[in-house]
Amino acid sequence: MTRRSKIVCTLGPASDAPRVLGGMIAAGMDVARLNFSHGDAAQHRARVEAVRREARRARRNVAILQDLQGPKLRLGRFAEGRVELVSGETVLLVTAPSVVGSPRVIPVALPSLARACRVGDPVLLDDGRVRLRISRRRGRDLEAEVEFGGPLSDHKGVALPGSTVSIPAFTPKDRRDAALGRALGVDLVAMSFVRTVRDLAQARRHLAPRTPLIAKMEKPQAIENLEAIVRAADGIMVARGDLGVELPLERVPGIQKRLVRQANLLGKPCIVATEMLESMIQAPRPTRAEVSDVANAVMDGADAVMLSAETAVGHDPVAAVATMARIVEEAERSAPARLRPTLDGNQVSAGIAAAAVEAARSSGAKVIVAYTESGYTARLVAAFRPPMPILALTPNEPVVHQLAVVWCVEAHRVPRVRSTDAVMSRARTEVRRRGLAGPGDHMAIVAGVPLNEPGNTNLLTVQPV
Ligand code: PEP
Repeated sequence: MTRRSKIVCTLGPASDAPRVLGGMIAAGMDVARLNFSHGDAAQHRARVEAVRREARRARRNVAILQDLQGPKLRLGRFAEGRVELVSGETVLLVTAPSVVGSPRVIPVALPSLARACRVGDPVLLDDGRVRLRISRRRGRDLEAEVEFGGPLSDHKGVALPGSTVSIPAFTPKDRRDAALGRALGVDLVAMSFVRTVRDLAQARRHLAPRTPLIAKMEKPQAIENLEAIVRAADGIMVARGDLGVELPLERVPGIQKRLVRQANLLGKPCIVATEMLESMIQAPRPTRAEVSDVANAVMDGADAVMLSAETAVGHDPVAAVATMARIVEEAERSAPARLRPTLDGNQVSAGIAAAAVEAARSSGAKVIVAYTESGYTARLVAAFRPPMPILALTPNEPVVHQLAVVWCVEAHRVPRVRSTDAVMSRARTEVRRRGLAGPGDHMAIVAGVPLNEPGNTNLLTVQPV
């Protein structure tokens, strides 16, 4: 594998055909994202089974990321499925849950809506593509002027930037969905609208043990608590869609850079998400600005870049993935990553990971092999951004999948080994088998002894392959 940054793809109706899903895997999808704001249990189950089947067929490691909806306020349904709001017209935001919408009646099932908003407040629909301004209270409902009109369809997001509405971060729907995710065996979970470290702790109680939890950074409060959240989460997603409605759009680029930098410093995987190749939902080629956006995210240090509607409902998901892979590879060629993180926790482990990268660099080693119980050793090495590939070998299948989102790591399951000699001979076999190096080349090997205990990286050796 020459590409080092990973690609996350959102699944949807456009990616359901096995030919398309297989094509996306062949083109470079590393992580399949199930967006739990849409779809039902049967659809999610079918998609999990399809990803596992196609990944097996392609002999590729593809992780499944469950993205929980969180407390996102959403529109109800429209009689025709969609409507067109016209700028300058007046609409009624109706809170009764049974109401079905029309071009003048917009269903928002939040009984406290009128209390939480004031006349003059903006209402942003569908990530801000449509904007209303509240003009009058009418009992539990609100009248609003359409400032920017446009198309709206069932269940699009509603943001109330001026309001005091506060819904718990982990909703009853999230609890039911997390239970479904456990039953389906998802590999990673993303929590939406995280505000504090406490929100993450609440979500963790509902996940399968040792499931990595990704904090989606999309609330102003999360940005205020940025460092603590990055420390407490197993990774972050820069969720630019909601970030750009919760905060002024022009603040998003600066915040993105701060988030990527903080995640890099603490050695936590960071996914940059939303509208990355947006025009490819319809067009065969992205805009120059989109190409630049993907490349800059990679150059800034993202572990992964994400496709949303481009692959979920776009006209050619395979082309979108292939285009993203090409942009990422070129960005990596033109600006190789280099980092000196200041990792928390076990300083022996951090020192060994840093030393492994230096030793591999100075000895001209072709690959760094991490024998890892929990994935910790491989993530630590990746945090130091080595110029050569990282081959993670683990006896644990879930860890193989979890590492799919981590920069530059290629992970494989191997039989559990019992001695350091066995680690070295297994490393040699796997490196040769996968064509990562051959006779005459060197490899660095990192592990923790005693073997098969997580979280203790303390062994480094450089060996001939
Ligand atoms: C986002 O807001 O950018 C995002 C990734 O979340 P969602 O797609 O759930 O809105």
